[in-house]
Amino acid sequence: MELVFAIGVPQEKIAEDRSSVDNFVSRAAAYIFRKHKPNLQLIHLLNVDEVQHKQGPDSPAVKDAVRVQDENIARIRKAIAESGVGDRTVLIIVGDHGFTSIARNLQPNATFRDAGLLEEEDGKVKSWRAIARSSGGSASVYVKDPADVARVRDVLHASAAVDGEVRYTVIERPQLDLLGYNPDAAFAIDPADGWAIVERLAPMAPTVKGNHGQLPTRPGLETGFIAEGAGIRPGVSIPKMRLIDVAPTVAAMLGLDLDGVDGRMLHEVLSIQRSRR
Ligand SMILES: [Zn+2]
Repeated sequence: MELVFAIGVPQEKIAEDRSSVDNFVSRAAAYIFRKHKPNLQLIHLLNVDEVQHKQGPDSPAVKDAVRVQDENIARIRKAIAESGVGDRTVLIIVGDHGFTSIARNLQPNATFRDAGLLEEEDGKVKSWRAIARSSGGSASVYVKDPADVARVRDVLHASAAVDGEVRYTVIERPQLDLLGYNPDAAFAIDPADGWAIVERLAPMAPTVKGNHGQLPTRPGLETGFIAEGAGIRPGVSIPKMRLIDVAPTVAAMLGLDLDGVDGRMLHEVLSIQRSRR
């Protein structure tokens, strides 16, 4: 309630849509930073993702959404500058994915049903020997009985291309192990450009125009990393980094030991190399 009163956004307006959530969150972040000066503050702004799902990554609406997010971030930068601790504060802006355009749906569970590997009742899955699960992007394929794996592989390969057009690729377990992928999946399927994977059995047109979650090597799925402030070397460009590099870099800035992580500290952006304790 303190935030609601301090920020002056009526409570019923805070969560009207993703953009109003971002507006409130950025105001709350600025207020909290000024008042409490936390050692670490994390916020998640939503609407650039939302607009790209709804309108597609090439829509002019995306530029508008980015502009509004720029204003939200400016609000936080102003709070940092006026906080009295701006000279020992770092602001990091990071995404966790890019976007691809979606025009058509793949429905692998309907393929499994037609192959007798999944039983449908009233449009829902009644039982399955093989099933695809996806929250967007690529899908995990689970096979209940290991004896069915070879047959499921055949079914997947048989419908991977239709009339010479490749709709998805089948990724086998050895490659999934290299990727650190879900250990319970027998396969993954990664859709070709323009295709989304949905779990539903009944034919359905895409409900989104943009998506993410395919193999991270796909062009367009890269995201950004911007850092400014105390101990950050100005003007440094990082040609390539991984999302898992963010945590060890932030830990180094905070003077914390973070052992046993897979990522690397981005020493090239840090002007002060903290010694390990
Ligand atoms: Zn998203």
